Amino acid sequence: MQAGATPLTATAVIAAAGSGERLGAGGPKAFVELAGRPLLAHSLEAIAAARRISAVVVAAPAGAGLERAQALLGDYPTLEGTVVAGGPSRAESVALALEQVRTELVLVHDAARPLAPPALWDAVVERLERDPELAAVIAAAPVTDTIKSAEPGTQMVTGTVPREGLWGAQTPQGFRVAALRSAQAAARAQGRLAEATDEARLIEDAGERVGLEPGPAGNIKVTTTDDLLVAAALLGG
Ligand code: C5P
Repeated sequence: MQAGATPLTATAVIAAAGSGERLGAGGPKAFVELAGRPLLAHSLEAIAAARRISAVVVAAPAGAGLERAQALLGDYPTLEGTVVAGGPSRAESVALALEQVRTELVLVHDAARPLAPPALWDAVVERLERDPELAAVIAAAPVTDTIKSAEPGTQMVTGTVPREGLWGAQTPQGFRVAALRSAQAAARAQGRLAEATDEARLIEDAGERVGLEPGPAGNIKVTTTDDLLVAAALLGG
């Protein structure tokens, strides 16, 4: 941000409406306990501690999930909180939540990443402020594994993908709200919204620029029960 400029305001959107089938916890992943608190609460805690986020919209599982998310928001009175019912895909859930956003910037985050630190949230906002050329800034980490390609369903290697220049996309992913709304509308019109596994993809497809903000390797995505154990260890619990 330039000296004297008004800071841009930012809302967090949390995609928390997944069924959590792969985790096999018998209920939505966002409410699975990590160190004694639901996964969703860990993200809310980080957002409340970040300096640059004033509001949060949670896309929660329809039914009892809406009340549970609302109750968790009650623990963070400094955040202006809204809960909406999620959609049939992650991208649809984010689009539904985005309808409630009233700020210039939005940071989209997966409830499945409970360990994104407050400083990362602020760094994404500040990078968008510093670089007006960017429509989006995403947390990401350089790939450390050697990456193989394979013919789908065959378990046979077809090649090795050079890992220089490869980054694993994380969340939060920050966007200028107008740019994200128009990229979502274009994807929906072409019937390809549901297949987007992150929002940065939509911005890329729209031909706009996406910046990378290095996130910690510990900002893991909880998909399996092993991931939950790793997350608990990283929390020191
Ligand atoms: O299934 P996956 O782990 O990729 O989901 C990523 C995030 O998207 C999770 O936090 C999940 O709750 C959310 N999601 C959603 N709406 C859906 C499916 C997933 O908000 N329909």
